[in-house]
Amino acid sequence: MSHLTRVQLVELRAELERQLTRLKRSMKVTEEAARPVELDQTAVGRLSRMDAMQNQHLTKNLKEREEVKFALLNEALQRLESGTYGLCLQCAAEVGFDRLLVYPEAPACGQCR
Ligand SMILES: [Zn+2]
Repeated sequence: MSHLTRVQLVELRAELERQLTRLKRSMKVTEEAARPVELDQTAVGRLSRMDAMQNQHLTKNLKEREEVKFALLNEALQRLESGTYGLCLQCAAEVGFDRLLVYPEAPACGQCR
């Protein structure tokens, strides 16, 4: 059984779902940005091409971070379903409500992270 109260779990679930909705929206934007840029060869100088390549690199990093967070959020929701939410995956310690409120997808306690 979870050490969290019913009210706390409801609050944390709402937060997880809120973050997931926001992340999905943001991932869509990143997806658009990740598309290859079509450069107008006559209007765009060498510097701008380098800018575009730099931006693509940053977009790729962002996309990877978003995918990691997406997985963590979904895993946290699964743990909520199965009743193991709020327990550290490393040491099985109870993760405090305060930490979960800030970092609801946390798979580990403050000691193990
Ligand atoms: Zn731990």
